[in-house]
Amino acid sequence: MLQNSPCLISDSQPAGLYIHIPFCLRKCPYCDFYSITDLSLQTAFLDALASEMNMTRELDNEFDTLYIGGGTPSVLDIKPVDNIIKTAHQCFNILSNAEITLEVNPGTVTLEQLKGYRRTGVNRINMGVQSFNSANLDFLERIHSAKEAQMALKWAQKSGYENIGLDLIYGIPGQTTSSWLKDLHSAVEFHPQHLSCYMLSFEPGTPMHKDLQNRVFNPLPEYLVCEFFETTQSFLNANGYVQYEISNFALEVIDQSGIKSTQSNISRHNMKYWNCFPYIGLGPSAHSFIEPQRFWNHSNVKKYIQELSTGRLPRAGKESLSQEQLMIEAVYLGLRQAKGIVVDAFNKKFGVNFKAMFTGVITDLEEKGLVKMSQNRCALTSKGMLYLDSIAVMFI
Ligand code: SF4
Repeated sequence: MLQNSPCLISDSQPAGLYIHIPFCLRKCPYCDFYSITDLSLQTAFLDALASEMNMTRELDNEFDTLYIGGGTPSVLDIKPVDNIIKTAHQCFNILSNAEITLEVNPGTVTLEQLKGYRRTGVNRINMGVQSFNSANLDFLERIHSAKEAQMALKWAQKSGYENIGLDLIYGIPGQTTSSWLKDLHSAVEFHPQHLSCYMLSFEPGTPMHKDLQNRVFNPLPEYLVCEFFETTQSFLNANGYVQYEISNFALEVIDQSGIKSTQSNISRHNMKYWNCFPYIGLGPSAHSFIEPQRFWNHSNVKKYIQELSTGRLPRAGKESLSQEQLMIEAVYLGLRQAKGIVVDAFNKKFGVNFKAMFTGVITDLEEKGLVKMSQNRCALTSKGMLYLDSIAVMFI
């Protein structure tokens, strides 16, 4: 049983385990993830993380994903990553076929390091490339060049990883449709199993948001960013990638039974978030969700270390979601996915009749070509995906 835990995992789905490594060599001006650049706190953080794992110990329930994200987990050497994974196995019932992902910044790794991570049990690499274009990388103030990103991808393949994800960003000021297409071309040349294409967003509180307000640069017009989104869908589709979530594409392969499938290449861990499955997050700023509860840790490494050194879990807050909140979340997260909201499951879970509840909204959106409703699914069309937020609000 979980000691000090707000509740037991009761969902029949295997859970996911997320570990947040709160260090980066330099802060990127657009990023609003919690991380610090003072690496001197690394040892104390790793000790605190081991304590948190021991205090959160959960061996009764199965975990089929472990995701080491951040921040920049690849600032860690092989040994600390090995320790984290070993401790995770001691404290959590991680299945032998679990997906174990490590996020990698191409500016922080060597071939030896990638090979070493693989020996620790990491079987999936997620590489934050963002762009292969120097002007874009400069704008984003990334610490790596396009060449270094290409090299890191080759090293990851050479190290034997059979599941590599690559992150790209589009909508960067100065970018054109043809330069975005070039980035997509460069990415698919590596045949990564997974591609995430994120639209650059200007999050309040970030230096880039401030620059936007001070008119240091001009953002791209909305129509162009929409064009990039459509270009992404058609280009990746033509190159064997299936969009399974607004920003995520998995390479289609022929599975053992000779059927085309993306199942082995989707991010099993991220599916936990989109399907409201249980997950536990450890490390500063990490969030956990065990329906109906959500709880989260302090976004402050020093406070995190201090709490754990006095035997307390570093919780900053928790909330219990009402049925209504859970339903809104299920609609929003369902619409993010290409498969859409599974109506039967929705009705069963909430004891409602989805179609009857939303008849007016659905008919309106269908007429506008933004939503498609089939027997058991309600999903956004490609065009509808461009307006997710405003569409989701209509269901509230
Ligand atoms: S390296 Fe990643 S986590 Fe760190 S600041 Fe840049 S985008 Fe954020």
